[in-house]
Amino acid sequence: MTSASKGSTRPHDCPCGAAAPDQKSGARPPRYADCCGRFIDGGAAAPRALELMRSRYSAYVLGESAYLRDTWAQETCPADLDVDRTAPDAPRWLGLAIKRHTPIDETHAEVEFVARYKVGGRAHRLHETSRFLRGADGRWRYVDGDVREE
Ligand SMILES: [Zn+2]
Repeated sequence: MTSASKGSTRPHDCPCGAAAPDQKSGARPPRYADCCGRFIDGGAAAPRALELMRSRYSAYVLGESAYLRDTWAQETCPADLDVDRTAPDAPRWLGLAIKRHTPIDETHAEVEFVARYKVGGRAHRLHETSRFLRGADGRWRYVDGDVREE
């Protein structure tokens, strides 16, 4: 992907806030370019499911549908996946908290997270335990998850 293709602007601070299970409260957010920008714009492979999860959250914030497709297992990726941030019912993402990162083996991992967002002025919490699979190419991808809408 070329960075000029969409003309989209990138934030200074990373939307994911470097969320992690052991994150201290009040930690300063990392720069986007040093955090999820390496994966979304730089094409680097996320080293663990944790970093992939964070970068996918940031991709939702930024409306990067192509990155979401690239990091979604082919078997489970919705054919009509498209994140349109300008749609009237588009969620406005407010923050990410990661509760748990559980590496299961070399190619399987789980991440439990809470993402806060607003739709039409109403606040929601998406609480999900996501499953990730590492492909033969060494890249982690999202498979599916158990969602608790709160
Ligand atoms: Zn980030």
